Amino acid sequence: MSINQLYTNARAAFNNWSVLTVQERLAYLAKLRLVIIDQLDYLANTISEATGKVEVEAITTELLTVLDSITFLEKHAVASLAKQKVKTPIMFFGKKSYIYYQPRGVVLVISPWNFPFQLSLIPALNAVISGNSVIIKPSEVTPQVGIVMEEILSQAGFPEHVIQIAHGDYRVGQELVAGKPDFIFFTGSVAIGKKIQMEAAKHLIPTILELGGKDSMIVFPDAHLERAVNGALWGAFTNAGQVCMSVERLFVHQSIYPHFVDLLVNRAKQLTDDLGKMTSHRQCEIVQEQVMDALAKGGKMLTGQPPSQWDFSKVPFISPIILTEIKPEMRIWREETFGPVLPIIPFQSAEQAVELTNQLEFGLSASVWTKDLALAERIAGQLVVGNVMINDVITSVANPYLPFGGAKASGLGRYHGIEGLRVFTNQVSVMADSGYKKREVNWYPYQGKYPYFKELIRSYYADKKDLLGLLKAFNGLFMGDGS
Ligand code: NAD
Repeated sequence: MSINQLYTNARAAFNNWSVLTVQERLAYLAKLRLVIIDQLDYLANTISEATGKVEVEAITTELLTVLDSITFLEKHAVASLAKQKVKTPIMFFGKKSYIYYQPRGVVLVISPWNFPFQLSLIPALNAVISGNSVIIKPSEVTPQVGIVMEEILSQAGFPEHVIQIAHGDYRVGQELVAGKPDFIFFTGSVAIGKKIQMEAAKHLIPTILELGGKDSMIVFPDAHLERAVNGALWGAFTNAGQVCMSVERLFVHQSIYPHFVDLLVNRAKQLTDDLGKMTSHRQCEIVQEQVMDALAKGGKMLTGQPPSQWDFSKVPFISPIILTEIKPEMRIWREETFGPVLPIIPFQSAEQAVELTNQLEFGLSASVWTKDLALAERIAGQLVVGNVMINDVITSVANPYLPFGGAKASGLGRYHGIEGLRVFTNQVSVMADSGYKKREVNWYPYQGKYPYFKELIRSYYADKKDLLGLLKAFNGLFMGDGS
């Protein structure tokens, strides 16, 4: 189908869909929830085949997250999208103020291959529940997932063209952006995010960009070491390290560094069945280049095969790699790796760990490991990132109540939570007057009003209110000719 046709369909679908109540729209979501439950094995299997991730990861990180997001919408969308009353300042006494959440129109969702199901459906479903029609452009690397999404959306009975899937590669993405959607929700790399932002700026199309990361995990000496070891391994190797929030640099306090590295290496050697494959050969090559660069510059590999011997011509699998002797001049120090590689770096002080984290262009998320929760919160406040986990990794993104997004080059805007639902709407602020007075106090004529406004300010805005003064100001302003 041509891009023009997709937009024509989407705009026509919007006209009928946007006039439904949120409750009516939610009925389709409830059906989708049941379709997903019904097809769990088929979906987990298809996602696993398409991406290389193990089925437990397909079910937890792709299906459960979407179900949690649907459940969140079923519980909170009606109240969050309803007209919200707000207060009105004293000068506008008698008026009512409120906010409407109006759908934006056609929302374009462009998604990557690492979590192709949830990173397409969560934004798309938030957008449709807000009353928009949606075009999803899934990644060309995992096309099967685009097909199953189309199947389950049709089984859920969504009206025609409310959610359309545009299959194809980056050229389809480019054409869709050029087609001037009303909003763009993009998840992917920093490089493409910048291109999309530049195109969107030509027409001032609002965007949300969810981009790459290079997350720090910071382990203090009083942390539960076994938990931290298990957390580091999972945080670095789940989904074969192809997670925007993967642990990409593990900072371990120097006082526990040798012991921690030993524990980590021993545990890493026991991992076998739990590891998934890489999703694409291209990504294997990127990881290989970075590891080779690190080794050439003095890095030490404590686990895994030497990268010169990797053969992913048949199966794109990389054994987990733990690296030490990491230096700032290595690519792995600052570039997103997106593979099962865990570089470990000793640190001396909390300030240094914060400084090394904040030095990079990325600011997606980070984790702090200590039993001293006051210290953890202090550090969390100093890290320039969008998300922090304390004594845990990655999973905050799976809480649909927490807004999610990046700082600095890791992205613009937030989704998830009430804020992440309303972002798909145009917020209309209304201040309403009953319309019976012939004029307002702040309108013309001004004559004689200055002393009363002065009295209003003096009596109302000081630390202690002066009720008599307020009455005088009110009488002068509202009861005189001005009202
Ligand atoms: P990518 O940027 O290469 O591609 C993402 C999508 O954009 C794909 O669907 C692709 O076809 C499309 N695309 C490419 N060029 C385009 C263009 N010029 N115009 C319009 N669309 C275009 O990213 P990827 O390799 O698929 O995904 C990996 C990246 O995604 C990593 O950097 C990862 O950190 C990031 N990511 C971020 C988050 C997050 O929430 N912050 C989540 C997952 C992945």
